[in-house]
Amino acid sequence: MDDFTEVKTPCYVCEEELLEHNLKLLHYVQKQSGAKIILALKGFAMWSTFDLVKKYLKGCTASGLHEALLAREEFVKDDDALEVHTYSPAYKDEDIDEIARVSNHIVFNSPNQLFKFKDRVKEINPSISLSLRINPEYSSSPKEIYNPCGVYSRLGTTLKNFDESVLEYIDGLNFHALCEQNIDALEEVLEVFEKNFSQYFKNLKYINFGGGHHITKKGYDVEKLIKLIKEFRAKYNVDVYLEPGEAVGWETGVLVSSVLDIVQNDMNIAILDTSAEAHMPDTLAMPYRAEVRGASKAKDKKYTYRLAGNTCLAGDIMGDYSFDKPLQIGDKVIFEDQIHYTFVKNTTFNGIKLPSLAILRKNKTLDIIKEFQYKDYKNRLS
Ligand SMILES: *Cc1c(COP(=O)(O)O)cnc(C)c1O
Repeated sequence: MDDFTEVKTPCYVCEEELLEHNLKLLHYVQKQSGAKIILALKGFAMWSTFDLVKKYLKGCTASGLHEALLAREEFVKDDDALEVHTYSPAYKDEDIDEIARVSNHIVFNSPNQLFKFKDRVKEINPSISLSLRINPEYSSSPKEIYNPCGVYSRLGTTLKNFDESVLEYIDGLNFHALCEQNIDALEEVLEVFEKNFSQYFKNLKYINFGGGHHITKKGYDVEKLIKLIKEFRAKYNVDVYLEPGEAVGWETGVLVSSVLDIVQNDMNIAILDTSAEAHMPDTLAMPYRAEVRGASKAKDKKYTYRLAGNTCLAGDIMGDYSFDKPLQIGDKVIFEDQIHYTFVKNTTFNGIKLPSLAILRKNKTLDIIKEFQYKDYKNRLS
């Protein structure tokens, strides 16, 4: 089953067992540390899995109205304890009322936005909590495109721009400064954040440590995270939130594609029925090289191919990989770890078909949740 020979491609397959493995680890962190963990929908929004996800996590963090609505509709908890935290770099007048209705927490990016909307959101939802996102101006994020604290960053309020008059309106402070990082990176950011902002913690209920904690990656020091959170909570008498996206979807499934043709131009090039640009965008944006099941780096094994997408973009290339046996037209090529930051970013560039979404159940049955058609392409255009 695991070679997905029968799957109609292209198709993302999320494996329930792997997802639950991540959720259980995150739940362990919650239980041991007392932190609350919410899912960043930006990175993983396969809502057909939310019945499982919501058993373990407290709620969702939304980047705006649409994600907040999705959380409210699809993450419903029996005990009505769902938490929806919404943060946008800036809110629009036309969205803010509905955001206030469906959110428990609204995080503002600047004192300016907070003062503009605070009365209105409180009037609509008197129990809503307000927070301000801080830019701690320290980050060791490995890639500038994913560094929220880089030069001229618009994300969060710097110490210089902090306005103490926000304090009477807010319950919390947020920062988000990490990207796929371990506990040492969090310790470094926290040190700077505490040095500059702990003077303002006195009447706060919570501090939100953002996302980018690579908790479910092998080698992450989970026990150290638990210790750090416990100490922080005790020291300042506040709740702590974490809002991972990637750590939830990390290594929970694959993108299955098929070889459509093999052409030669000083090397062998396999054209697949998927696209790096449209379906694996971070392989080009970050960039990084996705692992392919059964393959190695170019030339490691006997038969090397460039794997390329079925669009007209010259750079739509996943990379060069080598295999033990020659690829054949019709063979499946399976890209590992393609569940987070993939389908949430997909486009229909070139009119290429969006990959189907499937769940491999714990009993090994494969449920195709959604297949996309011409109408999905057409409906986004006019
Ligand atoms: C992207 C983002 C997250 C999630 O980040 P991951 O790297 O996926 O864990 C959390 N909070 C904020 C504010 C974000 O922008």
